[in-house]
Amino acid sequence: MSFRTKDLARQRVDILIDNALKNARENMGLAQRQALIARRICMKFNIRLPYEKRQLFCRGCKKFIVPGINARVRLGNKPRSVRVKCLGCGHVYLKVVDRKPRC
Ligand SMILES: [Zn+2]
Repeated sequence: MSFRTKDLARQRVDILIDNALKNARENMGLAQRQALIARRICMKFNIRLPYEKRQLFCRGCKKFIVPGINARVRLGNKPRSVRVKCLGCGHVYLKVVDRKPRC
């Protein structure tokens, strides 16, 4: 597979996810479909999404989740974290943000 093919695939994934985000509020069915196609392209071409985009997919049911529409974002204590809950399957993704120094 050439470098060019992978680049094209990456562009297409970007467009699909952008459109899915735009459509999420009015037409969730379409957004889900676009996100599914984007995810499939990623798997086929072995593309790794940047963190912000990876967050848009539920770790539990792999669906497209948008905060405020079908996901809930809360800040938690113990451990200090950002908690993203998928309202489709109820899976909670925990992003621990501890302020302890790393060294
Ligand atoms: Zn889910």
